[in-house]
Amino acid sequence: MEPSTQHTLSARPAGASPGRVVVIGGGIAGLAAAHRLLASGATVTVLEGSDRVGGKLHAGEIEGAPIDLGAESMLARRPEGSDLAGAVGLGGRLQPPRATTSSVWTRGALRPMPKGHVMGVPGDPAALAGLLSQEGLDRISGERALPPAEVGEDVAIGAYVAERFGREVVDRLVEPLLGGVYAGDAYRISMRAAVPGLYAAARRHGSLLDAVRSLQAAPSAPATGGPAPSGGPVFNGVDGGIGRLPGAVADAVRAAGGEVRTKAPVLGLSRATDSWHVRTDQEVLTADAIVLATPAWSSSALLADVAPKASAELAEVEYASMALITMAFRRADVAALPQDSSGFLVPPVDGRTIKAATFSSRKWGWVDDAAPGLFVLRTSVGRYGEQEQVQREDADLVRASLSDLGDAVGISARPVATRVTRWIGGLPQYPVGHLARVARIREAVAALPGLRVCGAAYDGVGIPATIASATRAADEIAGSGAR
Ligand SMILES: Cc1cc2nc3c(=O)[nH]c(=O)nc-3n(C[C@H](O)[C@H](O)[C@H](O)COP(=O)(O)OP(=O)(O)OC[C@H]3O[C@@H](n4cnc5c(N)ncnc54)[C@H](O)[C@@H]3O)c2cc1C
Repeated sequence: MEPSTQHTLSARPAGASPGRVVVIGGGIAGLAAAHRLLASGATVTVLEGSDRVGGKLHAGEIEGAPIDLGAESMLARRPEGSDLAGAVGLGGRLQPPRATTSSVWTRGALRPMPKGHVMGVPGDPAALAGLLSQEGLDRISGERALPPAEVGEDVAIGAYVAERFGREVVDRLVEPLLGGVYAGDAYRISMRAAVPGLYAAARRHGSLLDAVRSLQAAPSAPATGGPAPSGGPVFNGVDGGIGRLPGAVADAVRAAGGEVRTKAPVLGLSRATDSWHVRTDQEVLTADAIVLATPAWSSSALLADVAPKASAELAEVEYASMALITMAFRRADVAALPQDSSGFLVPPVDGRTIKAATFSSRKWGWVDDAAPGLFVLRTSVGRYGEQEQVQREDADLVRASLSDLGDAVGISARPVATRVTRWIGGLPQYPVGHLARVARIREAVAALPGLRVCGAAYDGVGIPATIASATRAADEIAGSGAR
């Protein structure tokens, strides 16, 4: 399945500098690629179209408290995010959430998030008591009596789990958890791409219960609902907001001699005999190699002439949009909120507007410390196919959030400040067949000398996976020759 990259032209002697590399896109992937390339001796320029680096990582504030307006934490079980933070001087500022217990608001009540699941797929039905009906629990308990399931080359996680365990667990647990990561639809999302460990285990075991249990017993268990096997945190934030990470990486890139330009949208790419021409609204840069770290639609447009096959495949990658509604309340007004909870998820089947609420003042120490008299929380709205929700007026999104919060946790106070952040095309979708599409894109791109792609559209949407794709792109350019 993995494409060969050996057919990349390589006229450069081994160990020589990759030459001048232009990285297009100054999100975390582009910055991580630039950081990595500088270590290999490349001359690096990052071109970011907007007026700030970071993309979906965006530090902001509300009533003086630092908050994240986009992504807020990264999986600590994978090393890439922590390693990058450490390399740019933020290692000592990594902080796990203060409150780690969360709930699912379903069937009319807040119910504790069960432990011991793999992306909502349970290994023990007893842990789901209350969350599912007795009938739903019985269906899971009886799964091992079903004939063994064949898992083919790929399958939608929702369809597969519903076939083995019934729809209820998909609708009430898998869907909201996947909704949190992909803003996606569990009945479309590829099990192989989104939960590769479970996909592999399901292929080995005829029973899904056995597959989940085998993962829980493994020393390097993939993301599950329990504590990290090492006992360390499952997620980390960065003191002051993970939105500070891109600025620190950009500073490190500059300190190492690289250039990071904002307000430099790339409008076109062309190939000369042995170099690339990169056209912005200001100038044309010449480069030996290009790292394209932009969202799929943008990469598709830039590759339309030079790599039409890759461009066509990239154009097929769909995105979900969402809005985050951050609110600051007077703390005394929300004293009745559950004490140690970091928030709750809401299954779409329950018909609410919000899909999650995060109690930021409980979750992140720096938010709490910066505004002890306030209570900051944020809700999120918008899943794949719900574009119209995200386009509602700010005041309407605040109103709908307050209505849901009132029903879920009894908040009746008005916030003292609100902030709505929309992420149009925020998260790429990984439907069945996504990995095969990515392989075709990489193959078409690698046919051109000195060109690589990276970012959230390829190997995972989470920050560590995105950084890993950047490292891969940078190492391939540094290692296999750019010219
Ligand atoms: C609301 C939200 C919350 C999230 N929460 C989390 C979380 O808590 N944890 C987690 O791990 N992940 C989270 N994610 C996912 C994660 O943040 C993203 O997948 C990741 O940051 C994407 O990084 P990227 O560099 O690939 O892309 P982006 O961040 O999209 O960066 C791409 C950059 O390219 C620029 N660009 C585009 N076209 C051009 C052009 N032609 N020329 C120049 N520049 C261009 C853009 O302006 C942008 O800055 C979240 C995502 C969203 C939207």
